[in-house]
Amino acid sequence: MKPSPDAHTTLCGLFGHPIGHSLSPQFMNRAFGLLGINSDYLAFDVAPKALEEALCAFRALNMTGANVTIPHKTRIAGLLDKTEEDAQSIGAVNCIYRKKNLLVGANTDHVGFLKPLARRKIPLRGRDVLLFGCGGAARAVCYAAFREGVKTVFVTNRSDDRASSFLEWFSLVTPGTRCEYLGKPDAVTRVVLAKVSVIVNATPLGMFPDTAACPIPESADIPDRTTVYDLVYNPEETLLLKRARMAGAQTINGLEMLVSQGVFSLLHWFEGKKDDILAAEGELLSYTRRFLRLVPSEGEAGE
Ligand code: NAP
Repeated sequence: MKPSPDAHTTLCGLFGHPIGHSLSPQFMNRAFGLLGINSDYLAFDVAPKALEEALCAFRALNMTGANVTIPHKTRIAGLLDKTEEDAQSIGAVNCIYRKKNLLVGANTDHVGFLKPLARRKIPLRGRDVLLFGCGGAARAVCYAAFREGVKTVFVTNRSDDRASSFLEWFSLVTPGTRCEYLGKPDAVTRVVLAKVSVIVNATPLGMFPDTAACPIPESADIPDRTTVYDLVYNPEETLLLKRARMAGAQTINGLEMLVSQGVFSLLHWFEGKKDDILAAEGELLSYTRRFLRLVPSEGEAGE
């Protein structure tokens, strides 16, 4: 149980703008309760011009840690004492922690993405992946895929503009992994689907309330030997995952990644509780699932 606030209670939080949609306060305070951690987690609506002041407050109030969300994920790196190499490569910081007296920026999306695959013993090394989307989450997925030794990433995107900056980034940070740009999602053919082992949706297609949307064209069948991983977590089973399940493919929903990346933040902040934090992951997943079912529209805007 979470201790009642007292003179030893520490502070963690979220810096974003807007932050009204975030599930992080419920998730983190639940985690503190399960782990008996004497800390509170609050969501702070930090306008872009107030980001430096928010970091001053972080130092002055001796905060333990913070998550960072839109629109601060890129700019905050330049305001911290240090940024981990992974976060630098991805170009986004979503977690701040203290190391000695320094404020360090990390990215927990890429490790959060890998955990559900590792849990199912699904290897990426030498395999081909099909990715929908070229945004921030797609970069974290590609970086993770590169680190795991994926052979080729086939990418599709709605707009060519974002795709070209993504491709430039990809060629710089993922040496040795091939990237093939297919164009718009409807360019995905049976030939491409037959080549890949893992299909990842890193777009909001299929997310509540537009649950009838699906990145894979209706005309293309999903092969049963693939793993289909949808980063969308509301609803838990998107149309893409339903089609994959009905085709006999293995499915992973975005909820597990959401919880795993939160768990990685906790590990940065409360290193001494590592075993307890890892042991609580299953309970945190069940809690988040129950919470989302109770308030489906709260998860609508993503993290
Ligand atoms: P982002 O940076 O805004 O990128 C969004 C991507 O989706 C872009 O490639 C965009 O294409 C594409 N897209 C947006 N609307 C589309 C539409 N109607 N049709 C086709 N493509 C569309 O967002 P992000 O941070 O990468 O997040 C992407 C998704 O992943 C969101 O649903 C988010 O909730 C989810 N996510 C989940 C987790 C998790 O832990 N489960 C973590 C991070 C993100 P354009 O370039 O054409 O705009």
